[in-house]
Amino acid sequence: MTFSRMLVKFSGESLGGSTGVGIDPDVLSNMAGQIAGLVATGVETGVVVGGGNLFRGQDLAGHGVDRIAGDHMGMLATVMNALALKSALVSAGAAAEVLSAHRIATIAEGFSVAKARRLLDSGHVVLYAGGTGSPLFTTDTAACLRAIETGAEVVVKSTRVDGVYSDDPEKDAAAQRYDRLDYGEVLAQELAVMDFAAICLCRDHDLPIIVCDVAEPDALTRIARGDKVGTRIDGRGERGP
Ligand code: UDP
Repeated sequence: MTFSRMLVKFSGESLGGSTGVGIDPDVLSNMAGQIAGLVATGVETGVVVGGGNLFRGQDLAGHGVDRIAGDHMGMLATVMNALALKSALVSAGAAAEVLSAHRIATIAEGFSVAKARRLLDSGHVVLYAGGTGSPLFTTDTAACLRAIETGAEVVVKSTRVDGVYSDDPEKDAAAQRYDRLDYGEVLAQELAVMDFAAICLCRDHDLPIIVCDVAEPDALTRIARGDKVGTRIDGRGERGP
């Protein structure tokens, strides 16, 4: 295996299936199956699921709910998604635990790096819920942060497109898909991969990012084996269509 410890980030929208809203049971069991398959190959796996399928902090901004309260609600949405994915993983035969940065002691254990590393070492899938635990951040940043803290060798962003494009492929048929980019190109061209804070964290800690399609079967195990899947972003990238 090329990677022995990976962090996989799923957007909340992916979990919502074709509508991007709520939790699609087929997508949930497919996600769980992909992760269980990855863990079965011996790869230690951490997971972050976003919350955009349920609530985003800015959804009610300007409608009487301030941004900080909205972000707290968004973090709670990520806890709901993590609980759903944990149950689906257990049903798929994998050991899994939710660690939440947003403290809700009756529902999930609190996050600590030591606890996360212990669980990863013993073959558990660790679901990092509650984002960073602070408002005004995203779950992409949380994913990169947890990956660095726990010694993951790559962060995989599993999303509804099969890589990074020069423009939105749903709006511009001529948009080109990149095989490889470096952090500087993503930042300079403002490519819609992750927010700047997340990209800068990865750049500063030399953590590669791979963007792939959530619907591609075996994408995660193929990435773990070192196959070329989606778009890879790192510090040595050569740009190519
Ligand atoms: N959020 C936050 N702090 C974090 C991570 C997330 O406040 O560290 C909130 C924020 O309101 C965000 C929501 O949780 O809009 C859901 O996360 P995100 O938008 O990243 O989910 P995704 O787009 O991946 O589904």
